[in-house]
Amino acid sequence: MKNRSQEKENVRCRIKKDDKVKVISGKDKGKIGKVLKVGRKSGRLLIENVNIVKRHTKPGGKNKQGGILESEAPIDKSNIMLMCGKCVRPVRISIRQLEDGNRVRVCGKCNEIIDA
Ligand SMILES: [Zn+2]
Repeated sequence: MKNRSQEKENVRCRIKKDDKVKVISGKDKGKIGKVLKVGRKSGRLLIENVNIVKRHTKPGGKNKQGGILESEAPIDKSNIMLMCGKCVRPVRISIRQLEDGNRVRVCGKCNEIIDA
């Protein structure tokens, strides 16, 4: 029973590092970027050039001059959708089990396998 719940969790966690995703809500709606980091516990994602925040830094350490540093802040995965490389649009993902038992993500629209 334990294994079963684990499987379920993996299926739900469909976005992986290096995926190409589109922001579907929030201030960066419409932006497309690459997933830099997935927060396993938080379910929040760091996406290239999305949700840029400015941080004021004090002089010292690596940053000798101080000033304003721009960096990505994590956003919730409910705000993004995975892009299908074939459809060139954000799509719903479904999970398909292959003959060898591996589960792959497929595009809900064109059925193209998204996992390499
Ligand atoms: Zn597709």
